[in-house]
Amino acid sequence: MGEEGEEYLFKVVIIGDSAVGKSNLLSRYTANEFNINSKATIGVEFQTQSMGIDGKEVKAQIWDTAGQERFRAVTSAYYRGAVGALVVYDISRMTTFESIDRWLQELNTHSDTTVVKMLVGNKSDLENIRQVSVEEAQTFAEENSLFFIETSALDATNVKRAFEIVIKEIYNNVS
Ligand code: GDP
Ligand code: MG
Repeated sequence: MGEEGEEYLFKVVIIGDSAVGKSNLLSRYTANEFNINSKATIGVEFQTQSMGIDGKEVKAQIWDTAGQERFRAVTSAYYRGAVGALVVYDISRMTTFESIDRWLQELNTHSDTTVVKMLVGNKSDLENIRQVSVEEAQTFAEENSLFFIETSALDATNVKRAFEIVIKEIYNNVS
């Protein structure tokens, strides 16, 4: 059990193909901001966001690839110490869903098996051009022991929920 006044800091990484909305999920969650033309910044970045659980302050240090994935150069330092991961695809681009296997392999190579993993189908606002059904994603998630949620960083649907489910599960595992 956690002690009174104990601090919790969990590292969570966001991975997935380029342009699935990783940076916007992070900015939506931590700053309630969305950018139509988000540009890739160089190097690894993270944002810290707190939430209360059981009357305790739990901080998540959430890492964004900052465009490294374009060059297939997400480094082991990026994954080091991660206890949670959002593995993101774009529901309007099947190729990004097909990449999830590779992202999970990379995650498994570089991190603990105890990492809490959430499969995130982003851009749920693009229902009219959907290529990945809820059912196939749900099935994949069940087969691979992942949590699953669809989000929209654009209209904010489920973004907070996606991060908070992961953070609460991590907390439950350690407390
Ligand atoms: P990243 O490369 O994975 O970090 O993706 P970005 O966050 O940079 O987003 C890539 C593009 O998709 C940008 O033009 C965003 O405005 C757009 N985008 C991100 N999230 C959403 C979303 O939920 N819905 C829609 N329609 N567009 C999104
Ligand atoms: Mg990005």
